[in-house]
Amino acid sequence: MLTIKDKTFVPFIDQNKLKNRIVQLASQINQDYRDKEPLLVVVLNGAFIFAAELMTHLTIPCRVTFIRVSSYQQTASTGVVREVLGLGESLAGQDVILIEDIIDTGLTIQEVSRQLADQQPASLEIATMLFKPEALKVEVAVKYVGFEIENQFVVGYGLDYDGLGRNAQEIFVLA
Ligand code: 5GP
Repeated sequence: MLTIKDKTFVPFIDQNKLKNRIVQLASQINQDYRDKEPLLVVVLNGAFIFAAELMTHLTIPCRVTFIRVSSYQQTASTGVVREVLGLGESLAGQDVILIEDIIDTGLTIQEVSRQLADQQPASLEIATMLFKPEALKVEVAVKYVGFEIENQFVVGYGLDYDGLGRNAQEIFVLA
């Protein structure tokens, strides 16, 4: 059990299951990118542990860079604006793998992919540790999915509740 502030979380995906699945994803990427040198673009903060684990199992030459998405409400009509921060280098001609922690409504990853695609990478694929198909509001093509989960709130392994819980070695779900 894990208690963060006023919330109680219970074990959901254990360390072994997580690590085994990440090894599988890495070997799929090793195969798919065998003649390439992909650039991993990691969405901070949540994806940092997943990305680190995944990258240590890649045997192909690869690079990594980090971005942040700041989301804010501008006006009621424009809705939430998602701005990609920190993308210093050009993605033109690169084989980009966008690394996310979790895809919920899909709105964040959709907007991030759109902004990255503007730079005309040679290819752009998405890898996410967790995916909530029931929560999805837009169509996103996600090539690499660690686990599909139900529409529940999870923490651990990089994912937080109010900034806390990222250091948990496994994934917990709200009780
Ligand atoms: P989306 O735009 O797909 O709705 O939201 C994606 C972002 O929402 C994730 O990157 C993550 O920061 C946050 N998020 C969505 N679901 C969860 C969840 O179950 N737990 C945590 N900790 N964050 C979540």
